[in-house]
Amino acid sequence: MTTRFAPSLTGYLHLGHVLHMLYVWGIAKAKGAKVIARIEDHDRGRARPEYEQAIFENMEWLGFPPDLGINASTAAHPSNFRQSDCGNHYAEVLETLEKRGLVYGCECSRRQILEKQSDGQGELCYPGTCAEKNLPLEGNTVRFRIPSESVAFCDLALGDCHQAPVGQCGDFSLRDRTGQWTYQFCCVCDDIRHGIDLVIRGEDILSSTARQIQLFQALGAPVPAYFHHPLICDESGEKLSKRQRSESITQLRETGAIPKEIIGRAMFSGGLQSCEAPLELTDALALMGNI
Ligand code: GLU
Repeated sequence: MTTRFAPSLTGYLHLGHVLHMLYVWGIAKAKGAKVIARIEDHDRGRARPEYEQAIFENMEWLGFPPDLGINASTAAHPSNFRQSDCGNHYAEVLETLEKRGLVYGCECSRRQILEKQSDGQGELCYPGTCAEKNLPLEGNTVRFRIPSESVAFCDLALGDCHQAPVGQCGDFSLRDRTGQWTYQFCCVCDDIRHGIDLVIRGEDILSSTARQIQLFQALGAPVPAYFHHPLICDESGEKLSKRQRSESITQLRETGAIPKEIIGRAMFSGGLQSCEAPLELTDALALMGNI
C-alpha cells in the first residue's frame, strides 16, 4: 500500500501540517504502507521554491521521513516528484484524453462564467458554453468533459459520500490558457504514476474527490481509497492556512520548542487523544481491514 504527503509551496509548515503528517505517517505505520513525498508546485504564480528546503528539513526534524520521493537532501534537485519538473508527463496524459475526445478548448473568461452563474458566487461551475465549438486546446483553457452521473464513494473517515461534479464545477479545467496545469489534473496524474492507492488528506479537499475519481476512471486507472481527516481551526472557525501566515514550525523552533511539544500541540488542537491510537485512526483502520 502506498500513500503520499503532497504539500504545496505556498508557505512554511504549520501545526495543521503536523496534524496531517500524524494521520499520514500514523496510518502508514499501522498498515505497513509507504509514504511518498511530492511537491505540489503546479501553480507557478504562488509556489515559492525557498519554502521547499524548509518544509523537508522541518519534516525530518519532527520525525516524519518519507520512504520515497523528495527528502531534505534531494529537495531542489529536478525530480519526478515535483510538479514543476513534470510538464512533459502531464502533456502526454492530456494527449490520451484528447485522443478519446474527452477534452475541449474553452475561450470563456472567469468573469463571463461568473456572470452566467445564478448567484454569481461560490465555486465556479462551468455551464459547457464551448463544449461543441471545437476550439484549439493551445491558447485556450483545456476542459475535461465530465460524465453527468454523480459519484458515490466510501470515505474511510466519513463513510458514504455522494458528490455531483456536474452541479459543483461542471467541465473543470486541466490547463489554463497560459499553459499552467491545474491542481485537479496534476494530482490525479501523480497519484496514478506514483501508484498511490490510499489518499489521506484534509476535509478541505473533500469536494474535489468525485471529480478526481471521474478523471481516474476516464484514464482507466484504479481509484485509490480516501481518508479525509478533520482540520485544525482557529478561534473564528477558519482552518489554519500557510497563506494566512499561521505560526510556522520554523518560528516555533526558534522559540526553543522541541518536536514532542509541537506534535503534542498539533494533536491537542486537532482533537487527537493519543499518537498511537487516536479514535479516528482506530475506526479507519478497522474499515481499512476490508480493503
Ligand atoms: N497540495 C495540497 C495541500 O497542500 C494537498 C492536495 C492533496 O492531498 O490532494 O493542501
